[in-house]
Amino acid sequence: MSTTIPHWVNNAEFAGSSTATAPVTNPATGETTGRVALAGIDDARAVIDAAAAAYPGWRDTSLAKRTAILFNFRELLNARKDELAAIITGEHGKVLSDALGEIGRGQEVVEFACGVPHLLKGGFTENASTNVDAHSSLQPLGPVAVISPFNFPAMVPMWFFPIAIATGNTVVLKPSEKDPSASLWLARLWAEAGLPPGVFNVLQGDKTAVDELLVNPGIKAVSFVGSTPIARHVYATGCAAGKRVQALGGAKNHAVVLPDADLDVAADAMINAGFGSAGERCMAISVAVAVGPIADEFVAKIAERAATIRTGDGTRDSDMGPLVTREHRDKVISYIDDGETDGAKIVVDGRNVSVDGADGGFWLGPTLIDHVTTDMSVYTDEIFGPVLAVVRVESYDDALRLVNANPYGNGTALFTNDGGAARRFQKEVEVGMVGINVAIPVPMAYYSFGGWKASLFGDTHAHGVEGVHFFTRTKAVTTRWLDPSHGGINLGFPQNA
Ligand code: NAD
Repeated sequence: MSTTIPHWVNNAEFAGSSTATAPVTNPATGETTGRVALAGIDDARAVIDAAAAAYPGWRDTSLAKRTAILFNFRELLNARKDELAAIITGEHGKVLSDALGEIGRGQEVVEFACGVPHLLKGGFTENASTNVDAHSSLQPLGPVAVISPFNFPAMVPMWFFPIAIATGNTVVLKPSEKDPSASLWLARLWAEAGLPPGVFNVLQGDKTAVDELLVNPGIKAVSFVGSTPIARHVYATGCAAGKRVQALGGAKNHAVVLPDADLDVAADAMINAGFGSAGERCMAISVAVAVGPIADEFVAKIAERAATIRTGDGTRDSDMGPLVTREHRDKVISYIDDGETDGAKIVVDGRNVSVDGADGGFWLGPTLIDHVTTDMSVYTDEIFGPVLAVVRVESYDDALRLVNANPYGNGTALFTNDGGAARRFQKEVEVGMVGINVAIPVPMAYYSFGGWKASLFGDTHAHGVEGVHFFTRTKAVTTRWLDPSHGGINLGFPQNA
């Protein structure tokens, strides 16, 4: 049976007036499980208006009341995360344990946001000038938009909305149209946690919805995560409309493996970071850089492990699920074909994988490609699938040059037992998130998540103190009370005395 997945406004489902819809599929079966509403401009405006109407009340709600709701939300999420994981697996395809993993990392941001009163403390200076005091406070922006990608339907929105809400803003979430149901589940949870109507809203849709969020004067800030071309468009359009924008883009993450590294540890890490979530992670490792004489041995160790990966339905006991859509799976396969044509060596070929799942699923097994060079599309493009390319270089300096020359700068990792090399790498590499013997260095909620170069447009990363900074603006107040010596009429510029 096909149902329409609606918008969510004022703590209730909202059908909107547009009749446009898009199919939502279960990637493990290929079946259409529902259709998602695609907002027209009028629908988008109705949702934005609701967020704007709710803003003054939420802004003026005490921190004590706001954080009580956040704690409720955290408790409900923690108790019922299995329900959300099943929804994610059903529309995204990632295995259930991985879906639970993304919820866990999102929950950590909720927990961080529960401590927001401490982070919103301003400064106070007594007697800054004679009988004059000065203080600063952090105030919310208004209604803000969160626009998220398909690959983390729960975690990526949770990088932003707990902090936006905790700091007194109202939110319009525009999830990916490929897996829209997680956002509705989260919206219902907020209502259950006691969040007033209009504070958290969901606008389903595609480019039409996004473009209205970018230009509508009711939206004061935009947090976007997705591919680099769209991130660039979102940043340019939102900024031109006078909004505060952070737009996180795509990635091509390199893991550099030095000759002194423990190759078993590094090979395990390549499997986990290359093929977890079928490579559909912005922090996936897609390029392993083998330095010096280790390459043959290292590639053999990865190949041996890749052969043990069980590809199949995420609700069964599989290691790796399908890709999100048939089109995406076919595109990833075309990159493997191109790599082969370009002369790279397909060491493990996922194109003929045998799976534990339905015939109609969007399957592709782990694929390892050796002798990749920087002119091949399998190197230059973000593939976003279970494809790990191996580039062989002679030295640490060659490896560093390779990573720094790449237009993306999201994540990277170094595998070594040499502390001096590690110290050099973390200082010299031009990438926002760095792992030393850690292949997926996703920062904790109390640090900030963000790449450099074409992986992020804007100057503020997600969550942590930078998240609080993004969703607030500073107000500085100068105060004089009952001071008979105010100096009378004086048209000069105020001086401290
Ligand atoms: P996408 O860019 O296709 O879509 C992201 C969002 O933009 C979706 O909500 C989508 O509806 C909307 N959108 C799509 N086309 C649009 C257009 N022409 N105009 C306006 N809006 C549009 O990305 P995706 O395929 O959903 O997600 C995968 C991408 O996201 C990868 O590139 C991945 O690296 C990136 N990503 C980055 C991070 C990060 O932290 N840097 C995290 C997760 C995913």
